[in-house]
Amino acid sequence: MSSTNHPETRPIAFFDMKAQQALIRAEIDAGIARILEHGRFIQGPEVDAIEAQLAGFSGAKHAVGVSSGTDALQIAMMAEGIGPGDAVFLPAFTYTATAEVPLALGATPVFVDVEPGSFNIDLADLRRRLAMVAHERRLRPRAVIGVDLYGLPADWPAIRALCAEHGMFALDDAAQAFGGALGGRRLGTQADATALSFYPTKTLGCYGDGGAILTDDADRAELYRSLRTHGEGKSRYEVLRTGMNGRLDSIQAAILLAKMPLLEGELAARRQAAGWYGAALGNQVTVPRVPEGAESAWGIYTILLQDTAQRSRVQAAMQAAGLPSAIYYPKPLHRQPAYAAAHARGIEAGAPPLPVSEDLCTRCLSLPMHPYLSEADVGRVAEVVRSAL
Ligand SMILES: *Cc1c(COP(=O)(O)O)cnc(C)c1O
Repeated sequence: MSSTNHPETRPIAFFDMKAQQALIRAEIDAGIARILEHGRFIQGPEVDAIEAQLAGFSGAKHAVGVSSGTDALQIAMMAEGIGPGDAVFLPAFTYTATAEVPLALGATPVFVDVEPGSFNIDLADLRRRLAMVAHERRLRPRAVIGVDLYGLPADWPAIRALCAEHGMFALDDAAQAFGGALGGRRLGTQADATALSFYPTKTLGCYGDGGAILTDDADRAELYRSLRTHGEGKSRYEVLRTGMNGRLDSIQAAILLAKMPLLEGELAARRQAAGWYGAALGNQVTVPRVPEGAESAWGIYTILLQDTAQRSRVQAAMQAAGLPSAIYYPKPLHRQPAYAAAHARGIEAGAPPLPVSEDLCTRCLSLPMHPYLSEADVGRVAEVVRSAL
């Protein structure tokens, strides 16, 4: 008997892009073939088409395709003129790109602690650090980058209100969360601008690098279009501002177009898998809790173990059973060699500690999560986790 499809030994991917590809392979091949025919590899009609679909799906008035999630963050910050002398507040527990962008623009990232329950930015800590920066008067508070970590929307109404009160730009790093919603509204309209990543493993992924910026603001959208093409004006050889080469290419747009019809169902399948995990593990480990009114996109499924030793046991047991797992993230950003100096610079009097971010790094563990997990797959993973506690 072949073992490959037996439920007990079928390989379980951490992210599964092959199962999805099998469903849409014909559309992908046809989409790429069309581009080989028309030859508009850059800014082709596929880019316009996916921008319209992203706006429609998210409810945002404008969608601007760009070359990656990182470039989406960068272009959005460049459009605000954020740079030297500016403080940009962002969580210490996130992917490196969130902090890299303000630093690359000469601004200073100010790391903020996260809430233990949601893994997202802690508003009380944000207010405290904002007050410290404002009091020192060395840096101008300019922006908050809220991250919807693992797919769960941050508390956008509160972040946006705080930003409005202090004249700051609210930027949503929704790289892990496309499809997530808050108060019945999909991410894309909760902040002044929303950055998406189409890195292959994200909830909507292409077959290379890609991203988009969503906004309701027509002036911002126009600036984003200019900045992604070297700051061009109405004509191609009029340069209005310093921009970059940050475009989404036609082939990646065609991949996204082929995947869009699956997205709604895939989000439901992720939600179902999260439900199975929660039911199987919820009374033994800390599983993600989705607050009232929020909907997670379930980009990544992360549990909390008691401590590092227990996490190591679970990881070892999973590895022995041939099951993948990952640690997002093993180190808070303020401890990263590249960012430690900026962290020290942000609040001269000495930044308060970031205990929750530090603690989560010692005991978080992410389990396989994708729309093509069966209930038996989740059961197998959960059984191995439980056996190692
Ligand atoms: C993936 C990711 C990014 C960067 O996206 P790329 O497309 O890889 O540049 C930024 N922020 C977060 C939180 C991410 O997970």
